[in-house]
Amino acid sequence: MTYEYGCENEACCHTWEAEQKITEAALTECPKCHKQTAKRLISGGTGFSLRGEGWFKTGGY
Ligand SMILES: [Zn+2]
Repeated sequence: MTYEYGCENEACCHTWEAEQKITEAALTECPKCHKQTAKRLISGGTGFSLRGEGWFKTGGY
């Protein structure tokens, strides 16, 4: 299971993916700024639709 994470530290704004089991607790520490600002993003449909929209715009010119 691949989870997407984002850092809530505005000075960092790092996003990354972490391979975790569904039973594992969500990460809390950002690997970049090492603050407790990591937040698990909702993965799946939302990310794909955003990505699809990007492709559509790119291909539409
Ligand atoms: Zn960070």
